[in-house]
Formats: sequence, C-alpha cells, structure tokens
Amino acid sequence: MEDKHVILIVVIVLYTIIVYLFSRLGKTKEIGQKRLFIISFFLTPVMGLAFYLSSTHRKINTYTEESYKCEECGYVFSEHYPHCPFCEKDEKKVKLIKVNKLMT
Ligand SMILES: [Zn+2]
Repeated sequence: MEDKHVILIVVIVLYTIIVYLFSRLGKTKEIGQKRLFIISFFLTPVMGLAFYLSSTHRKINTYTEESYKCEECGYVFSEHYPHCPFCEKDEKKVKLIKVNKLMT
C-alpha cells in the first residue's frame, strides 16, 4: 500500500472516532446521540456542534441567577448589599460585583 492510502485510512478512522466521541455528548440533549452522530458525520462536527449547542437539555434545566460576588473573600451573595457584610466586620469596605451564577 502506498503511504497516501495509509494516511487516508488513518484520517477516516480518526474522523469516525472523533465524531463518535462527540456524538456521545448528545445523550443528555434533546437531539440525541444517533442524530448528532449522523449530522456530525455527514455535515462535519462543526455543523454537529451548532446543532448540539442549539439543542436544549433533556433533563437538566440550567438558568443563570443574578448574584453579587465579593472580590475580597470570594463569597457570592444572592442579594445586593452596598458592601460585603463579611468584610465589613473586618472594617473593610468591599463593593460587590454583579455576576451571573449558573444554576442547575
Ligand atoms: Zn467579602
């Protein structure tokens, strides 16, 4: 066999493995593993990724909640305070930063 053919076979095998591993992510999504595999295989995993990302979660619903984080102690509060209540005890006035906490 020529080297060219060996490389081509290796590339195809690797491609199939990558697509297969990627399609396993679809298990927890609405799209499912089989459909994600077919899309990724024929339309490249780039398209599969687009489908995967647009597909909603099957079981777990994630949402973000507005939270306020203190940079000094790292504590995240669900309510907004003018200054971090913990650091205030140590006579430090630390402003809280608005963050979006990912909830599951
Ligand atoms: Zn603090």
